Amino acid sequence: MQSFIPQKRTLMGPGPSDVSDRILEAMARPTLGHLDPDFQRMMEEVKEGLKDLFQTQNKLTFPVSAPGSAGMETCFLNLVEEGDTVVVVRNGVFGMRMTENVIRAGGKAVTVDVEWGKAPQLAAVEAVLEDNPDAKILAFVHAETSTGVWADAAALCALAEKHGCLTIMDAVTSLGGIPVLVDEWGVDAVYSGSQKCLSCTPGLSPVTLSERALDKIRARKTPVRSWFLDLTLVMDYWDGEGGRSYHHTAPVNALYALHEALVMLSEEGLENAWARHMIMHEALAAGFESLGLKFLVDAECRLPQLNAVVVPDGVDEASVRAFLLKEHNLEIGAGLGPMAGKVWRIGLMGSSACEENVELCISALADALNRHQNPVDGAAALKAVQAVLES
Ligand SMILES: *Cc1c(COP(=O)(O)O)cnc(C)c1O
Repeated sequence: MQSFIPQKRTLMGPGPSDVSDRILEAMARPTLGHLDPDFQRMMEEVKEGLKDLFQTQNKLTFPVSAPGSAGMETCFLNLVEEGDTVVVVRNGVFGMRMTENVIRAGGKAVTVDVEWGKAPQLAAVEAVLEDNPDAKILAFVHAETSTGVWADAAALCALAEKHGCLTIMDAVTSLGGIPVLVDEWGVDAVYSGSQKCLSCTPGLSPVTLSERALDKIRARKTPVRSWFLDLTLVMDYWDGEGGRSYHHTAPVNALYALHEALVMLSEEGLENAWARHMIMHEALAAGFESLGLKFLVDAECRLPQLNAVVVPDGVDEASVRAFLLKEHNLEIGAGLGPMAGKVWRIGLMGSSACEENVELCISALADALNRHQNPVDGAAALKAVQAVLES
């Protein structure tokens, strides 16, 4: 065997996003023991940094030692008990996974099905909550990465509150890219991922749980159906109070990377990061328009960090992606499920949401379209991008 030395690519798919050298360098620092006092000090800073990021005072805020999917399972397995009714808003791949999680936790999933690419309608969600007065939890995806739809989290949380439900929110793609206001909205359990708008390496899942969520967990009659993700056990390690003890070996160097990502975000300022995602999205959208490309999602509920564009008729979408990777070292995403073959998903997440990437994406896409019997004016599209960036 030989060392694996990958080429550097520009990552503009649905995640992972570009990881800066600064974060990669942080990861290469000396590995400490997972109970080393210096490392424990860093853990406390990570928890504080995540609280700022989630805009919460929740004491239970920490990164699960595994990717976003593990944060999802942490929330569902701990909060959903045998027989609990959970209303799940489904408007894409990640809502489908939520349903699967409810069932595996022993709960009863009642779904509000929404057409892919459309935002959840509050009236439809409310009707299902009214029909299911025994529902204990409302679950929804804040930023649906499979389509690029931005859900109205504040309104969904208000509906849940009105109907006596706790809330579980998927913020994997939203955290760091658009406002996630956990305390203001009153969300009870939120999970995210390190590799999307935080531009950190994949493999960690920041989560935060409210006191109400903890009360529900404390009142469980049956043990959580996962030993590794059982929060009451994980806390022996992540909650510093009364001293830490071994639960599992933390991914020490991956946590250095997350710590550095949080430092970088605090230097930029959270609101500036949100604004940067929005400006880059507007510049990209101007380029798309000039190239004659249409968005899948209506402007009112379009995510800045995940842009789903419709593949023009007669263009082989997989061939375009292969061309971009081979000729421009640029990765963009394919459509998932019913959107397969119909859209490209272009991410502007974290470090990837920058001028160079937007310009590269538009000029490379113009090149690809021209090579795929779809003549476009790349220079004009680039001008449209620059006009937005300069304004
Ligand atoms: C990426 C993603 C996940 C899963 O995260 P992994 O880190 O891939 O496990 C969950 N939900 C949404 C909305 C995502 O975009």
